[in-house]
Amino acid sequence: MSHALQAVRGMNDILPDDAETWEYFEDIVRDWLASYGYRPIRTPIVEPTPLFKRAIGEVTDIVEKEMYSFEDSLNGEPLTLRPEGTASCVRAAIQHNLVAAGGPQRLYYYGPMFRHERPQKGRYRQFHQIGVEALGFAGPDADAELIMMCARLWDDLGLEDVALELNSLGSAEERAAHRAALIAYLEQHRDQLDEDGKRRLYTNPLRILDTKNPLLQPIVEAAPRLADFLGEESRAHFEAVQVFLKDAGIPFRINHRLVRGLDYYNRTVFEWVTTRLGAQGTICAGGRYDGLVEQLGGKPQPAAGFAMGIERLLLLWRECGGQAERAAPDAYVVHLGEAAQRLAFRAAEALREHGFAAVLHCGGGSFKAQMKKADGSGAAVAVVIGEDEARAGEVGLKPLRGPGGQQRVALADLPEAMATLLYSEQNGEQGIDDGGV
Ligand code: ATP
Ligand code: MG
Repeated sequence: MSHALQAVRGMNDILPDDAETWEYFEDIVRDWLASYGYRPIRTPIVEPTPLFKRAIGEVTDIVEKEMYSFEDSLNGEPLTLRPEGTASCVRAAIQHNLVAAGGPQRLYYYGPMFRHERPQKGRYRQFHQIGVEALGFAGPDADAELIMMCARLWDDLGLEDVALELNSLGSAEERAAHRAALIAYLEQHRDQLDEDGKRRLYTNPLRILDTKNPLLQPIVEAAPRLADFLGEESRAHFEAVQVFLKDAGIPFRINHRLVRGLDYYNRTVFEWVTTRLGAQGTICAGGRYDGLVEQLGGKPQPAAGFAMGIERLLLLWRECGGQAERAAPDAYVVHLGEAAQRLAFRAAEALREHGFAAVLHCGGGSFKAQMKKADGSGAAVAVVIGEDEARAGEVGLKPLRGPGGQQRVALADLPEAMATLLYSEQNGEQGIDDGGV
């Protein structure tokens, strides 16, 4: 026997029990996005590698070591499986002139992302994100709305222990001034820096503040703060965001070391973190990225957005008792004999035509065995067709969950009888069979 093949490490199958939870969650999410006026956009999973190098930045974890990049075997074009969604979304908006032609855009994407990381709980090589991008909005109102939106989703999902961390990265000039001060400071501590730190000292010193190395914490804590370099406009913008959040009753903590892993952010940045998922505690991250559209070749356009990790969100949702209702059919159709089988097909189709979910038993077996399957399916009602019924052009209806005995109706009356049964069951009344006595 040959060896059975396995999925790629860090890339997960989502089996039916879980996939139903995903779909249930996705329904909630779609309603939530629509309630804020966001519209979907779908972009390719593979993009030209330079897109990510330019958007995310050469000296970032993602571009330095996490991308799945390869050459097109036909023409040698460098391609990459998307590690995040903002770059593609902005590329598409520029390519199709969305903002210039249609004004500011509220867009969202949803789908798999790929990063070559060490797989562990809440960290995978293929994972999923929902991302929201507000393109063409310059003000602090847009930033605040993005954050409020997240808070509403946590509320819709009943999540607990999610805290908001907030910071401002200021403008490019303000960051440059801070950067110079930071380099001067870090140079004094050069010997204590780790490999990454030494390497980033001159290329991306801001990212050293983001280090997870506990040995560097004292150095990082005493480093010059970006907040002290913010100019009037940046400070006003940041304060306005905070006023909106206070009005909305959303608590937050200002985290001066929050710099985000991608280079394109400016001004407001934020993360939603939980203590319930161990080391992988950030479920959502985002901020303003006013320079990105121009950086990718578009006409300058302010923008802000966020992305949330679906696997982490679902882990937390389950921790907080979230669960999908099991998707069960309304009816399971059992049948015995050739004529009955043919009638069973018609009965099942008649039900579906009227909007009921029906599972038709396939594969034969005794009535008893089929009824066991019907019960196991979770269906509310078994539609039972024996030789007798087939001869009369009728079907039996047997409630499997609620009260009430079996009744027989003509095939033409099946959908209505089914509706009455389900409706009266939902109201906690007796089934029509008993109701008529
Ligand atoms: P981290 O610091 O955990 O690596 P990040 O800063 O790289 O996160 P972003 O690029 O901001 O993450 O992506 C937004 C969200 O996507 C994260 O907050 C997280 O919820 C999720 N995410 C990122 N990388 C992964 C991954 N490898 N597996 C699962 N979820 C992920
Ligand atoms: Mg990361």
